[in-house]
Amino acid sequence: MKSLVFLEHAGDEITKGSLGVLGKAASLGEAAGVVLGSGVADVAATAGRYGASTVYVVDDAALAAALPQPRVDALEAVVRHAGADNVLFASSVLAADVAAGLAARLDAGLNWDVTDLAVDGAELVAKRPALGDTVLVDTGWTTTPRLALVRSGTFDPVEGGGSAAVEQVAVEFQDFSTRAELVEQLQEEATGPSIEDAETIVAGGRGLGAPEGFGLCEELAEALGGAVAATRAVVDAGWYPYSTQVGQTGKTVAPKLYVALGISGAIQHKVGMQGSGVIVAVNKDPNAPIFDFADLGVVGDLHAIVPKLTELVRARKG
Ligand SMILES: Cc1cc2nc3c(=O)[nH]c(=O)nc-3n(C[C@H](O)[C@H](O)[C@H](O)COP(=O)(O)OP(=O)(O)OC[C@H]3O[C@@H](n4cnc5c(N)ncnc54)[C@H](O)[C@@H]3O)c2cc1C
Repeated sequence: MKSLVFLEHAGDEITKGSLGVLGKAASLGEAAGVVLGSGVADVAATAGRYGASTVYVVDDAALAAALPQPRVDALEAVVRHAGADNVLFASSVLAADVAAGLAARLDAGLNWDVTDLAVDGAELVAKRPALGDTVLVDTGWTTTPRLALVRSGTFDPVEGGGSAAVEQVAVEFQDFSTRAELVEQLQEEATGPSIEDAETIVAGGRGLGAPEGFGLCEELAEALGGAVAATRAVVDAGWYPYSTQVGQTGKTVAPKLYVALGISGAIQHKVGMQGSGVIVAVNKDPNAPIFDFADLGVVGDLHAIVPKLTELVRARKG
């Protein structure tokens, strides 16, 4: 079974999510990477170490900006050139647009929000959560290539040390694909990992009491080497940026450790973080819903508990 994996990159670095999907694809059969961009020779070289036998590269100025439509043309050309049973994507805003465009172009089926993949005979089976993440269902495809968008943080990259053959693929772009122009791209300044990539997340809710309360989350996250996330209640109140919102109308994350501070655990928040490895909650209300699905619950005032916890983590690390 041959899978092509869309390797999204930021600068010269392939995203952790894409490398995770590549590793999973390699465990299912033949895995090839696809790198699309302008001046991306160095990006392609990395993929062999993470399980790709071949990396197909489309290197063209039309792909310099992170716009989806030219990537649909390029990926279609790679699929037609190389052949593929599956085309797999790690979820992101760009990848979702490209996957949807490719599905329309190839008249192919796309399963999204996938949390696992397995081979069953000649078929690929995708697991995905349904009914507000309360059940996991097996889904399939009726035609090939099968397209799948994998939930962010699902698979960890596996560095095996191999190398991949790099093959350039030529593309003729459609007129309509190159009409959009990226006028401006702003980069939010951030230190540490993004919440999609972080292995540890410290999330804050209304229980922080005020925007300044996020200082506690930031200090603990820094001590743990993690990222800070937020609930919709505090994002709506303008306490923290929208890009950090976890939940139904925010991002879905699955870090190894999720520390929830002053978060009630509403279902709309839960669906975005319940795939986390270990969930630790600090809440002063012993009946808070978050304690129903936290692995470790601490009942108490976070303003008293968190500074001590941060101190302890720093001391242990030191
Ligand atoms: C259509 C829809 C979509 C939504 N999408 C999302 C989404 O994507 N993400 C999301 O998060 N929400 C979402 N919501 C909102 C969601 O329903 C909740 O309102 C929200 O998650 C609550 O945020 P919170 O836990 O920060 O606040 P609250 O529910 O107010 O909880 C605050 C918690 O802090 C505790 N607390 C207070 N003081 C302290 C203290 N000193 N020490 C310790 N604990 C303390 C309280 O006991 C309480 O449990 C959505 C709602 C709707 C209707």
